[in-house]
Amino acid sequence: MAAAAAAIQSQPSARIVLIDGNRNLGGQYWRQPFDPRLAEVTSRHHHHLNTYHNLRRRLEEGEAAGALDLLLGRWVWTVTRDPDSGVFTAHTTHGHTAEGISGRSIILAAGAYDRQLPFPGWDLPGVVTAGGAQALLKSNDVLVGKRVAVGGTGPFLVAVAAGLAEAGATIAGVHEANSYLKWAPHAGHLASNPSKLAEGAELALQIAKHRIPIHPRSAIIEARGSGRVRQAVVAKLDSDGKVIGSTAKTVDVDAIAVGWGFTAQIELALSLGATTRVDVDGTEVVATDELQCTSVDGLFAAGETSGIGGLELALVEGEIAGKTAVLDSRAARALTSRRRRKQGFATAMHNAHPVTDHWQNQLTDDTVICRCEEVTYDRVLSAATDALSNEPRSTKLLTRTGMGWCQGRMCGYAASCLSTPTIAGGTDAFAKRPVAAPVTLGALAALNDSGPADRTVSRNI
Ligand SMILES: Cc1cc2nc3c(=O)[nH]c(=O)nc-3n(C[C@H](O)[C@H](O)[C@H](O)COP(=O)(O)OP(=O)(O)OC[C@H]3O[C@@H](n4cnc5c(N)ncnc54)[C@H](O)[C@@H]3O)c2cc1C
Repeated sequence: MAAAAAAIQSQPSARIVLIDGNRNLGGQYWRQPFDPRLAEVTSRHHHHLNTYHNLRRRLEEGEAAGALDLLLGRWVWTVTRDPDSGVFTAHTTHGHTAEGISGRSIILAAGAYDRQLPFPGWDLPGVVTAGGAQALLKSNDVLVGKRVAVGGTGPFLVAVAAGLAEAGATIAGVHEANSYLKWAPHAGHLASNPSKLAEGAELALQIAKHRIPIHPRSAIIEARGSGRVRQAVVAKLDSDGKVIGSTAKTVDVDAIAVGWGFTAQIELALSLGATTRVDVDGTEVVATDELQCTSVDGLFAAGETSGIGGLELALVEGEIAGKTAVLDSRAARALTSRRRRKQGFATAMHNAHPVTDHWQNQLTDDTVICRCEEVTYDRVLSAATDALSNEPRSTKLLTRTGMGWCQGRMCGYAASCLSTPTIAGGTDAFAKRPVAAPVTLGALAALNDSGPADRTVSRNI
């Protein structure tokens, strides 16, 4: 949204197409209800709605002026580039219809999904991702449970707990694997991002109001229940992040929400051969320069695709990418100091909330690692040991881990950690997805060298 609005502002005569698989504008942060009649009810779960409405108004004005085509409810399942003309084609699907959208530049801002770590019982109904719990609330006004334990790492956990509590849930506890004292060396980044301090203060008030128990250096190590989750086993972690067994205790819950940061969606960039890098948080992201240019000429990446950093960083990166794409690099460059400031905060957050080592020690032989293909820990481990080279691709091929419905989105990070001693470069085997979204066989069959299935729409940008 920010990229398209900035591009229109800089170059009103440019032709811009905004494609989003969701039927409503808003992305993850301003996730809108499927049924617009719910919007008034769900708006109480949202923040910074003024920014959203402002962006939306600018886009609608751009659409009315003929500068923008809004293609909502369309998934881009792959992107190709003509080697001679350099023109990109985004191959989109909408039900049984396929359409190619061609343009000289593409800005990828496909967002991220929750990073998960397996633990015994995590596949029980009632155990959800922290983002999933928030998404249900934001888009459907639905509480994931009445008594919820929240675990993992990162400030997002507190935001999720506060949101659930505001909506009426009781929070049994927030189990943050790291100590908040890890922020101390990064105080400068906090000071230079006052909006984040204000957000923190607001959250602190909500924690106090709902008496949410916050447990730093602790983790949810098991989910128990028959048919659905009934109890969470929680334990303290030592300073190395290892579970202190003697502190384990059970807590009654009817839902568990877990999150270990996010994983960027980079498959479309990978299919175009863009260079990636492993970020401070161990996530593989698309490498860009300060103007959001990737290693592929004409391809830009912004938001979580180029590094997990939250709303404000995503917004400024979108603006920079939008302006650079319409050749207003002077205006784009003026925004780079803001980007650096937001990036500094994101790096501090990743350093303060690393994934702790405890989780691998908690796995039992029958803990499911890949839920789609039902691959258990013992099978992943023996594949990693048996494989000629212990690297994720071998594990994937030998066990089918990451080859099911979600294509490694849930298990990719964990499976990479289990099959390679260093995560750097290891996630690639699970991040490559030639088909980024479900597509019909008809659309695939109709794809030929000259273009996609039904028709090709030519746009300038
Ligand atoms: C579950 C969750 C909760 C979050 N909560 C917070 C929070 O409380 N505070 C905070 O600061 N940040 C939060 N974030 C981060 C924040 O949402 C992001 O920083 C911000 O939304 C990033 O914007 P983006 O444009 O990169 O991605 P998104 O907002 O995720 O937007 C990506 C868009 O791309 C579309 N898309 C993806 N793939 C395709 C495709 N193949 N074809 C067509 N469309 C596609 C999606 O439908 C989506 O609308 C959260 C992130 C997640 C995942």
